[in-house]
Amino acid sequence: MTKFSDLNLNPKVLKAIDEAGYESPTPIQAGAIPPALEGKDVLGIAQTGTGKTASFTLPLITQLARGRARARMPRSLVLCPTRELAAQVAENFDTYAKYVKLTKALLIGGVSFKEQDILIDKGVDVLIATPGRLLDHFERGKLILNDVKVMVVDEADRMLDMGFIPDIERIFGLTPFTRQTLFFSATMAPEIERITNTFLSAPERIEVARQATTSENITQGVLLFKGSRKDREASEKRKVLRAIIDSEGDACSNAIVFCNRKVDVDIVAKSLKKYGYDAAPIHGDLDQSHRTRTLDGFREGSLRFLVASDVAARGLDVPSVSHVFNFDVPGHAEDYVHRIGRTGRAGRDGKAIMICVPRDEKNLADIEHLVQREIPRMDNPLKSAKPADDAPIAEAVAPVADKPKRTRSRTRKKETTEVAPAVVQEQPKAPEPTAAPEPKPEEQPRRGRGRRGSGNGGRDDRSDRGGNKVVGLGDHTPEFIGLSFKERIAD
Ligand code: AMP
Repeated sequence: MTKFSDLNLNPKVLKAIDEAGYESPTPIQAGAIPPALEGKDVLGIAQTGTGKTASFTLPLITQLARGRARARMPRSLVLCPTRELAAQVAENFDTYAKYVKLTKALLIGGVSFKEQDILIDKGVDVLIATPGRLLDHFERGKLILNDVKVMVVDEADRMLDMGFIPDIERIFGLTPFTRQTLFFSATMAPEIERITNTFLSAPERIEVARQATTSENITQGVLLFKGSRKDREASEKRKVLRAIIDSEGDACSNAIVFCNRKVDVDIVAKSLKKYGYDAAPIHGDLDQSHRTRTLDGFREGSLRFLVASDVAARGLDVPSVSHVFNFDVPGHAEDYVHRIGRTGRAGRDGKAIMICVPRDEKNLADIEHLVQREIPRMDNPLKSAKPADDAPIAEAVAPVADKPKRTRSRTRKKETTEVAPAVVQEQPKAPEPTAAPEPKPEEQPRRGRGRRGSGNGGRDDRSDRGGNKVVGLGDHTPEFIGLSFKERIAD
């Protein structure tokens, strides 16, 4: 097995790695570091959680350890799709470069230009940036990219999703033709392939097995869930989420809950909070200081549930996340890979549970196709809950058509006050986690009606009530109507 000491890294970098507690390089590190140190272009196909950040940071620091930066002319550039990821790379850089005298600047949105300008003016060895902010600085004439020796593009597939590819192409064009490029992507979409063919020169291609996606240390499950009605689905789904969290018990020390849309990130976070769960949202519309505070709290363990969108979670590196809950099935199969990669990191155990509603089954099939395995189906934990809790969900999974019309219209009335518009009205009665927000009196009559309509059950009900009382024909029904056939024949 390769050791870090075999990789020709700077001894000061080796010391920092040792202190970080890393015993041996991960496959992407063992593959990418040697060619990177030789000055070759590298195309790393690896997803988050594989140790890819160190696979470019360590050789970068080793190379930059010699030489000095000139004012406004950074010597290297690391481009990241999101602020959080950029901040994460900067943190990694600080860890590994602690014994090497290098300067860095982090150029991300939401932070004042002034401070960033001061750093750039002094001259930086490493510029870690999001593409938009980098170009803003360039256009203001504050930055010269002619001295960039190494350019790193991290999470290029995400850049593609976010529409950053034109920016990346422009930045490539602004850096010297002779620069070295280290390019990382979890997947190779045709557009990514095109960029690498255009801007990389005879790259060393290192692909780490997709197995990390569905690695054995991540237990996966999917719960197929159908709401009782479309307009109830969201609130019922949130209830299912709470039940799943509860069923995981203490094993769920902390978790990231992924939603597809920002609006749902907010709703789910608020809802969890109302039900007594320690949760906070993170997405791109929240201001930077808010996001940083939330992330710090989550990292430190003072926040248990981070409800996130894909973009916001990109830069998040929390080695001890016990669970990932996919509140929604992601629209892009690759996002599933990224999401569940937040747990089970660096060889730890992790669990990834997803809720899938019927309209998402196609996306689920795409994910299973991508990861080349079936995600085990899970039982709805609410089905084994106590009867009062079970009732609404038992309904929720029953076909809508089975319901009597009167029940539906009544439920709809209740819905407008209870559920819609989502979380604002979703008031828990008590902090009891699995308690249903629906009022109990509704449940009993609805069940009774259900039984009457189911053939045999109806007769049993009548005999329980003393034989010949017929329901639905008023108080004055002729005697014979209450008699059963059996009794007539016996007569
Ligand atoms: P990344 O894929 O860069 O996001 O890294 C995932 C996690 O693995 C981070 O928490 C790193 O600190 C950690 N890590 C990176 N390289 C190693 C290594 N060689 N051994 C153990 N952990 C590592």
